[in-house]
Amino acid sequence: MTVMMMNDYEAIIVGAGSIGVPTAMALGEAGVKTLVLDKHASPGQGQNKHAIGGIRATHSDPGKILACLRSLEIFSSWEEKFGDNIEWLKGGYTFPVYRRKEEAALKSILPIQKQFGLNIDFVGPETIREVIPGINPEELIGGTFSPDDGSASPLLSINAFYRHARAAGVQFRFKEEIKQIIVENEKVIGVATDRDQYTAAVVVDAAGPRSRKLCKTAGIDIPVIPDSHEGAITEPVQPFFTTMVVDLRPGPGSKNYYFYQNKHGQILFCITPDPPIVGTDIRETSVFLPQVCSRMVRLLPRLKNLRVRRVWRGLYPMTPDGSPILGWNRDVRGLLHATGMCGQGYMLGPGAGEVVARMVTGKPTADDQVILEGFSPYRNYGKEEALK
Ligand SMILES: Cc1cc2nc3c(=O)[nH]c(=O)nc-3n(C[C@H](O)[C@H](O)[C@H](O)COP(=O)(O)OP(=O)(O)OC[C@H]3O[C@@H](n4cnc5c(N)ncnc54)[C@H](O)[C@@H]3O)c2cc1C
Repeated sequence: MTVMMMNDYEAIIVGAGSIGVPTAMALGEAGVKTLVLDKHASPGQGQNKHAIGGIRATHSDPGKILACLRSLEIFSSWEEKFGDNIEWLKGGYTFPVYRRKEEAALKSILPIQKQFGLNIDFVGPETIREVIPGINPEELIGGTFSPDDGSASPLLSINAFYRHARAAGVQFRFKEEIKQIIVENEKVIGVATDRDQYTAAVVVDAAGPRSRKLCKTAGIDIPVIPDSHEGAITEPVQPFFTTMVVDLRPGPGSKNYYFYQNKHGQILFCITPDPPIVGTDIRETSVFLPQVCSRMVRLLPRLKNLRVRRVWRGLYPMTPDGSPILGWNRDVRGLLHATGMCGQGYMLGPGAGEVVARMVTGKPTADDQVILEGFSPYRNYGKEEALK
């Protein structure tokens, strides 16, 4: 196969999304000649723009904790280091608890969270009422509070990472769909798009919910199944809380829901449908708002007069156990999966991107080994992550 030298790279990333763009930034900084391809016209037009912006290291899996602690460092110091306002807000994450079941579940993962360096505690109802003014106090037991977590704007941050990646020499090509990962002798040699062909010894699968379709072109089946989630944003009101609130209790047709107030005073919120709505349909439903709003207003009655400005529906690239898939493919050399980020791809992006760059340059750290073990494409998918 003849491919022009100018289309020759050391690494090609499929997808300019939550994972692809920060990965490109890390590869560019490591001096790797990198091309990013995306079918959309600009960065972040897949699922990144559907994220509401929550960033936490409060997980139960050591790999997720470590990757997100690094992400938190990057998000929280970005403006100071590089001058772009990405609307970072250090409000922490709060999981208020009203039932012994959630209390026991959250307390049982505290030891592992603390072991891996998280600043988190189970606090009493008074502290929860300070962090979430106006929260329903009836039968409130307490909850976990992790003050170093926060939020930022997915649109502003992906564009900041994009500019940074380009300044580090990474090339981006938009409006090109990858039709084929080209494999010869069980080894990646490049990709073919609807416009051109490009060669590289490494192809990073950062295609999110489309990963399964992409990898099938290389004869590989990976367990990434999209399911849909809706989000919404209200009109702005005077800021009165900064934390992300996560209510783990199930409700009719739903599991947990979560919300926070951004720097403009708008409340952003989501809910986890139960059972999951598997598929790629992203038309908004009439179920979401009544379902989530009744639960939110019961928890925090002062939200009741807020008007919702916009609703959207996007996809989680789900895996069977709720953990990401990050690792080299064993059957096709040079194919590196960085996908299956479920509901946490935005927060995992910068931390995971650096791990990918160190894998490509052959310099993984001891922490990376912990992350890679938990995120291995070849792990046993039988055990679910507690806070997925
Ligand atoms: C309502 C909602 C709220 C959410 N809130 C949060 C949150 O608060 N915090 C958080 O961390 N996460 C959140 N998420 C999850 C987050 O949005 C995803 O986990 C994340 O965006 C996935 O990142 P990704 O890079 O894997 O996929 P994407 O961001 O979708 O990027 C993949 C890219 O690959 C491109 N692509 C795929 N296949 C091809 C191909 N063959 N050719 C060319 N291009 C291709 C796509 O166009 C896309 O741009 C939320 C999601 C939803 C739906």
